[in-house]
Amino acid sequence: MADENEVRYDPAAIEPKWQLRWAADPKLYAAEPADCGKPKYYVLEMLPYPSGQLHMGHVRNYSIGDALARHQWMRGYNVLHPMGWDAFGLPAENAALKNNTPPREWTLSNIAAMKIQMERLGLGYDWACEVTTCLPEYYRWNQWFFLRMYEKNLVYRKKSKVNWCPECATVLANEQVVDGCCWRHETTPVEQRDLVQWFYRITAYAQELLDGLDKLPGWPEKVRTMQRNWIGRSEGTDVDFFLDEQGSGVRDQGSEKTRIRVFTTRVDTIFGATSVQLAPQHELVAKFTADDPALKAQVEEMIDQQKKAREAGDLGAIEKHGAPTGRFAINPYNGARVPIWVANYILADYGTGAIMSVPAHDERDFEFATKYNLPIVQVIKPADPSVSQELPFCAYEGLVVNSDPLINGLSCADAEKKLQEIAVAGAFGEAKVTFRLKDWGVSRQRFWGTPIPIIHCESCGLVPVPDEQLPVVLPAQIEITQQGGSPLSRVPEFVDVACPECGAAAKRETDTMDTFVDSSWYFYRYTDAKNSNAPFDPATAQYWFPIDQYIGGVEHAILHLIYSRFWTKVMRDLGLITNDEPARRLFTQGMVIKDGSKMSKSKGNVVSPDEMIGKYGADATRMYALFAAPPDRDLDWQEDGVAGVSRFLGRVWRLTTKYAPLARTAGDGKADAPTGLSLKLLRKLHQTIAKITLDFEGRWHFNTCVAAIMELVNELQSADAQLAAGEVSAPVMRELLRSLVLLLAPFAPFIASELWEELGEEGSVLRAPWPTSDPELAKEDELAIPVQINGKLVEVVTVAADANAQAIEAAALAGEKVQSRTAGKTVVKVILVPGKLVNLVVK
Ligand SMILES: [Zn+2]
Ligand SMILES: [Zn+2]
Repeated sequence: MADENEVRYDPAAIEPKWQLRWAADPKLYAAEPADCGKPKYYVLEMLPYPSGQLHMGHVRNYSIGDALARHQWMRGYNVLHPMGWDAFGLPAENAALKNNTPPREWTLSNIAAMKIQMERLGLGYDWACEVTTCLPEYYRWNQWFFLRMYEKNLVYRKKSKVNWCPECATVLANEQVVDGCCWRHETTPVEQRDLVQWFYRITAYAQELLDGLDKLPGWPEKVRTMQRNWIGRSEGTDVDFFLDEQGSGVRDQGSEKTRIRVFTTRVDTIFGATSVQLAPQHELVAKFTADDPALKAQVEEMIDQQKKAREAGDLGAIEKHGAPTGRFAINPYNGARVPIWVANYILADYGTGAIMSVPAHDERDFEFATKYNLPIVQVIKPADPSVSQELPFCAYEGLVVNSDPLINGLSCADAEKKLQEIAVAGAFGEAKVTFRLKDWGVSRQRFWGTPIPIIHCESCGLVPVPDEQLPVVLPAQIEITQQGGSPLSRVPEFVDVACPECGAAAKRETDTMDTFVDSSWYFYRYTDAKNSNAPFDPATAQYWFPIDQYIGGVEHAILHLIYSRFWTKVMRDLGLITNDEPARRLFTQGMVIKDGSKMSKSKGNVVSPDEMIGKYGADATRMYALFAAPPDRDLDWQEDGVAGVSRFLGRVWRLTTKYAPLARTAGDGKADAPTGLSLKLLRKLHQTIAKITLDFEGRWHFNTCVAAIMELVNELQSADAQLAAGEVSAPVMRELLRSLVLLLAPFAPFIASELWEELGEEGSVLRAPWPTSDPELAKEDELAIPVQINGKLVEVVTVAADANAQAIEAAALAGEKVQSRTAGKTVVKVILVPGKLVNLVVK
């Protein structure tokens, strides 16, 4: 029963008080200069899109990062813990259309609202380095980087087939197409259009992006695997078949033969090639169909089938069709003539848009050859004679047969090497590495993004905007219609410009950049956010980078996390930084779900952080987000659980305020060597300190950290009567309560600050040194050893912590239940896991 005079735990009173105090002390969470003499620690959570409302996923993400930042401050690090806003993007334009609010106004007011939520949550950010990507002081550097990359031929423009979302009225990157639909409009099929687009040449770094993954042991393996698959390296051979000109319908271009380049990962099987197959868009196909209307109709149908399959998002599932062209190709190795087909499953933009078909050793080719009754020639046999020779035989562990004498009998790998040498000598091919990764299309026909700093001049062509004319600023007022084309193209004041080179009337580029550009380097800007002469100061960035711990959702495993790795490598090659990778460690937290599914408005299962803070306080909300599940797993939000954490904090409150008067009398007095209850409680305390310290060093089982603090509090509470009777001295009480508050501080900074003051401790708890565990005190003097009989637990016996094997065995055999269960039987074997377990085998 609560004492009438007791002051109840009231987060609604405590939290605003500390929020005001912290806001009045901007130095509290400020990063210090590089020469401060402390080791640095850069902890970063992915920046949010300013939708106007934090969601529980944010709360979880930021609670993890904030606990870590606070712990590192207490460990004496110079911590950089910044926050910013990924503020460009489509929703601002949708809101503008709907509410007639200009995107900038809408975005900035959302930022203000979310910042208030973050402050209510007590998140310790250094707001002096806030970055807002939609402001010209930030996006001018996107333009500056674009120009530097243009100079280095890492930016180019080409006509290409693009993914077009009719709902967004813009181009989408391949990564933004999910199951054939727009990533934002999950039911809107993506269309294919031909447009001239700007690209970043990310493929120039494909190999380095792949190799770098091996040097990131601090990244989750699943993220590295996703990136490896996305980069999709395959080794193979480019080989030129020659067009058999006789009757080919293709005009002979001098003495040079027409080549059909194919890419194959299995050149060792080339003597088994029984056809060459072309994508319907292949340039030779256009020549073949020029005088063949029947073939032309078939080809057009195939193009249509591909388009539909692409729109349905499943090119792999396309039903395979083909048509013979009546032409033949010549195998460069042996002069064999094979028919040329057009096939609907060959993609123009994969490899060379042409393949050699080897039905005996490829599933897909086998299926096709069977359907069209094409010859099937076996040229590989299993190396292991006990393996079935049934075709198709696709394994690489084989021996070449039925081919050129030069390679017959060789292993597949040796044959491949030999054939590559022959191709190089004969100038008809070479070893080739291909990547699935495509260049990054960054053009967007949108208003709310970074304008691309290029001017189109009729006489000079593409003219980069000179650096001194940056930033190219978005016009303030603009009518947003979302009706085709870039909104900027309808603003003459923006578009019409004098050519910087010849002075003639010219036009600005009206595409804006993909917003993933903004998030590719924002974390460098945090280190020097106010710099107006450069994106950041290289020396400052060098001090802070790489990021020590980056925390965000696994949904960014490929988009943001590949682009930002690419950007880092480009900046390194521009001489701005020296690190190869942006982040040393990456942590991907699980999702927050409710009633088994992702929180969403349409499901009506959204829990608002404000509501939780209002009912239970920010400390309880944050602590629950850490306690309810291991941080890497999904968390099913249960309001009961938040209430439970709030009750726990109430117990901490009562216990601490009750014994604070005693603790305060301790001064700096030292406790005598503890015995009895004091020893028992201090042991629990030092075990808890050891566990939580270890978790912060990398395990991050914050759920079990919170549980350990709860156990400690339970132990203190269960000794309440003895404590009230004065069984522990003032110095011991001070150590117990002081350390409890220190342990709570990273998780629940408000209540920790208040109780710290209550204990009469000096300064802020947020900068008090993290407690250290005394291993002597933490040591158990007794160990509980489970005893099993034939694998079943029957009893737990207690032994001295330093008991040897003999003593443990004796204690196990002497157990009361063990005695009764073994009476009249024989113990045939004793299996002992030292310090852990005894298993008796009894007959
Ligand atoms: Zn869309
Ligand atoms: Zn010009």
